[in-house]
Amino acid sequence: MFWAAGAKTKTEEEKIVDKLSNDVTLSTDVMTAWIRRAADELEREKAYLSDLDAPIGDSDHGVNMARGFNAVKAKLANAPQPADIGALLKMVAMTLIGAVGGAAGPLYGTFFLQAASKAAGKTELDLAGWIACFEAGLSGLVARGKAQPNDKTMVDALTPALAALKAHENGPLREALAASAEAAEQGMKATIPMLARKGRASYLGERSIGHQDPGATSSHLLLKALVDTVGP
Ligand code: ADP
Ligand code: MG
Repeated sequence: MFWAAGAKTKTEEEKIVDKLSNDVTLSTDVMTAWIRRAADELEREKAYLSDLDAPIGDSDHGVNMARGFNAVKAKLANAPQPADIGALLKMVAMTLIGAVGGAAGPLYGTFFLQAASKAAGKTELDLAGWIACFEAGLSGLVARGKAQPNDKTMVDALTPALAALKAHENGPLREALAASAEAAEQGMKATIPMLARKGRASYLGERSIGHQDPGATSSHLLLKALVDTVGP
């Protein structure tokens, strides 16, 4: 119908705003700022994440994530800055794998390592570039952890987040990032009624129902930190 089509058509001005927003890319500096911000956020939410892990795990998810990302932050403070986004993401991966004892360390480590492979030598990522990184990262994480959607894991936040990025692939980068963080939040909340089929929480069977998954929660925090880094 005409009115429906009209409502969806963007004005010339809106198209110019989109075009300008589209020109925003994720530089090495922006990605580094994201990782620092994520570290601060995970430190701030450490008790909350560990509390989520108490009823369905061993109360250490916040401690694990904060330890890993604080180690990353220390490397950023002491070593020469990574030359490109691939080097940054690889450093994050290796540090998480080395510093985090829990399941989440190797899983996020794999995500960042596979994401790094798509950013090798790049000092800027546009939306398509970030989607390629995210897709490789999530595939690697799933190959390693074998969790499917609805198993009550971080995969339940990351899968809709990737779908949202793809749904916004022709729009501005900021809109796509915001949509992916919102989708992760919905996915995180959707883990509450799920029965855990992977990880420690799966040992509880039916008793895992009614609790929000800590890993899905840290995934949302990571993606929200990226939105906040890029700004409105
Ligand atoms: P651990 O379970 O070893 O104590 P953490 O508490 O740091 O490790 O992390 C727990 C989180 O890891 C869970 O909330 C879940 O999101 C995620 N997780 C566990 N196992 C898997 C898996 N096989 N695939 C994906 N995510 C997983
Ligand atoms: Mg735990």
